Amino acid sequence: AAEQLSKSDTLGLRKKHLGPSCSLFFEKDPLKIVRAEGQYMYDEDGRQYLDCINNVCHVGHCNKRVVEAACQQLSTLNTNSRFLYDNLSLYARKLCSLFPDPLSVVFFTNSGSEATDLALRLARAHTDSFITITLEHAYHGHVTSAMEVSPYKCPEGKMTLPPYVHVAPCPDSYRGKHRDADHGPEELGRLYAKEVKDICEKVTKGGDRVGAFIAESMQSCGGQIIFPPDYLRRTYECVREAGGVCIADEVQIGFGRVGTHWWAFETQGVVPDIVTLGKPIGNGHPLSAVVTTPEIAKSFHSTGIEFFSTFGGNPVSCAIGMAVIKEVEDRDLKTHAKEVGDYLVSSLRSLMPRFPMIGDVRGIGLFVGIDLVRDRELRTPATEEARRLLFRLRQEGVILSLDGPYDNVLKFKPPMTFSKANVDRIVLLLQRLIPEIKEDATAGFQKKPEACNALTADKPVSRNARICVAPLIQPPGDLLCGMRRAQGCQSRMKSGYIAS
Ligand code: PMP
Repeated sequence: AAEQLSKSDTLGLRKKHLGPSCSLFFEKDPLKIVRAEGQYMYDEDGRQYLDCINNVCHVGHCNKRVVEAACQQLSTLNTNSRFLYDNLSLYARKLCSLFPDPLSVVFFTNSGSEATDLALRLARAHTDSFITITLEHAYHGHVTSAMEVSPYKCPEGKMTLPPYVHVAPCPDSYRGKHRDADHGPEELGRLYAKEVKDICEKVTKGGDRVGAFIAESMQSCGGQIIFPPDYLRRTYECVREAGGVCIADEVQIGFGRVGTHWWAFETQGVVPDIVTLGKPIGNGHPLSAVVTTPEIAKSFHSTGIEFFSTFGGNPVSCAIGMAVIKEVEDRDLKTHAKEVGDYLVSSLRSLMPRFPMIGDVRGIGLFVGIDLVRDRELRTPATEEARRLLFRLRQEGVILSLDGPYDNVLKFKPPMTFSKANVDRIVLLLQRLIPEIKEDATAGFQKKPEACNALTADKPVSRNARICVAPLIQPPGDLLCGMRRAQGCQSRMKSGYIAS
């Protein structure tokens, strides 16, 4: 009953009417999914797939409590935040109660991109500066302002970032500019924070003030990067000294995924000035939020510009958001994420002595990555093998994705209902598939898609390429000199192998 079209008609209509820039997972043989439950999805033939990547359906696909809350509120009232209704006030209080002081004010929006845009506006209003520091490989959304701070979507030559955006090296201890082979963890935290400090000093020496530093508190888009100890604490200090505010993007990693805390920034012992929330907040319903301090909210208000989002914080969204938080709390999914996540990491690490292709296993809670390599010593990314493995896993009914600058990192960010039995299944599969993959890859199994060539293993990406030129929006007058309009941009095409 759930299927209205044959798979080929579904694909045909999609190709005809959807913009081609929106890629599919497994482009050559896409999956058609007709229903889902918990951490499982089902195709048109009733075949089950274990979903290891959907961090949106946080408390499980089609979660009963969330569905009931939505239906009940939809049949009672749906209006907008210009009226008073209880569940907006109650949900705002509940959400803010999950944050440390002084983060106690929330704005409701409808997507992660919108949250990024609003966060940048708040920061710029508060500091009176457009200058923004972002990280290599970062992705913060598809709207113009968010793209400007998203090097992930801007391979060299495809799109340029405006001159008021500075890109700091990604604090990736395994593959980044400073590595664990040469430095201890504390030293790495210091070295990477120093990179941000250097940018801050350059800005202040030029007579300007930093506006904002924006970063995920663990970088999902860069390939499941766990920052070295104290990196954010040291970085936030430098940014604040230079007059800026710190934005934590918790769109992918928030709501207890890290297991020990509600928010990933807490694992680094910092309190940001602005936090963006999305994906899991509504378990699939389009809801997002920006949480900030009363002081920053006041600066924004004093610009005299009203904030209103037609759908942001509507009664249905609030009912859903509240149901998500209650599910995490009542089922203690945070503790569950820690237990299953620890089990996943230790099980994967136990494979390392037997499988040299597993170069690194990193993760906190249900945020885990496997960095696949051809040579452990040289850390040569096994991009080809990773693609092949992803495809074989799918054939076996397990859905994972690839990410990182070389597309060689297998990403785990499953619904929080993911179980130890699910981990056991994956570990068994990897033991069987990795040797198979290795043979096929050396035989030259699959040609890399054209659009990926510049970003894959054989041609290392220039990691610190400083991106210059063209604003996509009109910045303040004194920043205008020497800029030209971007000719356009093209997303990083990866043939459906990523899920950002
Ligand atoms: N921030 C991060 C870290 C993201 O991963 C994404 C989406 N992949 C966004 C922001 C944008 O969210 P949305 O797609 O809901 O606009």
